[in-house]
Amino acid sequence: MSVRPAAGIAFPVTVPVLVIGAGACGLTAALAGHDAGAEVLVLERDRVPRGSTALSSGFIPAAGTRFQREKGIADSPSLLAADLFAKNKHRSDPAVTAHVAERAGPTLEWLADRHGIPFTVVEGFLYAGHQALRMHATPKRTGADLMDRLLAAIDAAGIEILTDATVTALYADPDRRVRGVEIRRPDGSGERIGCGALVLACSGYGGDPALVRQHIPEMGDALYFGHAGNRGDALRWGEALGGFSRDLGAYQGHGSVAHPYGILITWALMMEGGFQVNREGHRFSHENRGYSEQAVDVLQQPGGVAFDIYDERLHKLGLDFEDYRAAAEAGAVRSAPDIETLAARLAIPAAELAQTLVETREMAAGERTDPFGRDFTQKPPLSPPFYGVQVTGALFHTQGGVEIDAEARVLRRGGTALPNLLAGGGAARGLSGPERDGYLSGGGLLSAVVLGRIAGETAARITGELR
Ligand SMILES: Cc1cc2nc3c(=O)[nH]c(=O)nc-3n(C[C@H](O)[C@H](O)[C@H](O)COP(=O)(O)OP(=O)(O)OC[C@H]3O[C@@H](n4cnc5c(N)ncnc54)[C@H](O)[C@@H]3O)c2cc1C
Repeated sequence: MSVRPAAGIAFPVTVPVLVIGAGACGLTAALAGHDAGAEVLVLERDRVPRGSTALSSGFIPAAGTRFQREKGIADSPSLLAADLFAKNKHRSDPAVTAHVAERAGPTLEWLADRHGIPFTVVEGFLYAGHQALRMHATPKRTGADLMDRLLAAIDAAGIEILTDATVTALYADPDRRVRGVEIRRPDGSGERIGCGALVLACSGYGGDPALVRQHIPEMGDALYFGHAGNRGDALRWGEALGGFSRDLGAYQGHGSVAHPYGILITWALMMEGGFQVNREGHRFSHENRGYSEQAVDVLQQPGGVAFDIYDERLHKLGLDFEDYRAAAEAGAVRSAPDIETLAARLAIPAAELAQTLVETREMAAGERTDPFGRDFTQKPPLSPPFYGVQVTGALFHTQGGVEIDAEARVLRRGGTALPNLLAGGGAARGLSGPERDGYLSGGGLLSAVVLGRIAGETAARITGELR
């Protein structure tokens, strides 16, 4: 994954805009570059483009959209920016964060109007840290559906994706202008492709265990739930070209992956009144700070596991989610007419779990305050029959990456932009700041889709200036 001198290297084919990675970021960048009049080629290591995007829930936050207005939801880009800053304690790049919040709504409307990708607002529960209902999703409410629709839009626009094409090296001039790339095919053969501008949309480093252990030691042994092909290539190339990386300790984790089934259990269950206990039947955290930081809290419990405890009302809410239905079908979800029987089915001490339930009910009635600081009074207390799932904590994707400006140009140490290198999504510094608890839900696809669009537009402009 090197950067080599371009001098004397011939490129049999040159395209104006080259995009590495066919996830949400790369595909959105390609659509934007194409709409801006540039010829675009996307390079993807896998035979079938899926990325972390297809593994995700596909929920994208955006504020002030017409989809929200149709539902009477009041929201604004400044409110979204305020929520991002509140979560990351004002430690993300202020200009990039405000710009992404501003462009999120128009980007989803552009994808809908120009590229036929239908979005609606996800209703029924509010994710931690969001002041308005602003998660948007495609009809099946899965990342796989989002990917299928992005790929259909790419196809309709006539944009080519070269699959089975792992980019292994970049070629650059002494002034760090990227001239082209080398790709490797599964049969070991190699090719070179020249470019006018290059978009790094090959995501983060969750698929490189050594980088994870180095930068996120607390998740070094955790299950990685994202795309295995995201191995930190953007980070290495960006740094080799004089860019620098920021916030490498930040990430999206999740504290509710059914264990040992490996299926996501929606955090909506916790936001709407459920709670988590450890093997001893005790709560151990304020579940509603966010699912991401909960990953470490769960991993620190005995055996590295916890149990989601909820009731029939929440089970029905869960059934709205494809993942949850799959977990239920797989047998991960246990239920019982009373809490003692549920405890037995989950192998938790019955008296302790029953006592924890009593305490949460008292907190819901305002008779007791939560030592962890959660407000239980806003949701109904749990009532029989009860449900439970054994879960563990997992790493979903890394948030650190190459530093960019608001036009998605990769920056050198010192702040000037590299001539023709852009980045977005998991490849770029995210919107979480440096800490593990700075990730606001939806920040991954927000960065992928919005910075993808911006990167595609900037790349087209750079190549236009070259003509
Ligand atoms: C289970 C799960 C649920 C999630 N749910 C949500 C959610 O609801 N909302 C949200 O905002 N975020 C969510 N996320 C995070 C979200 O999936 C990511 O932030 C987002 O998909 C990143 O998009 P991307 O395009 O940057 O990367 P990806 O979608 O991972 O695409 C990167 C692509 O680059 C390719 N690639 C890598 N290296 C090379 C190379 N050298 N040459 C060629 N190709 C290469 C990879 O094969 C891959 O296809 C979730 C993540 C997980 C794992």
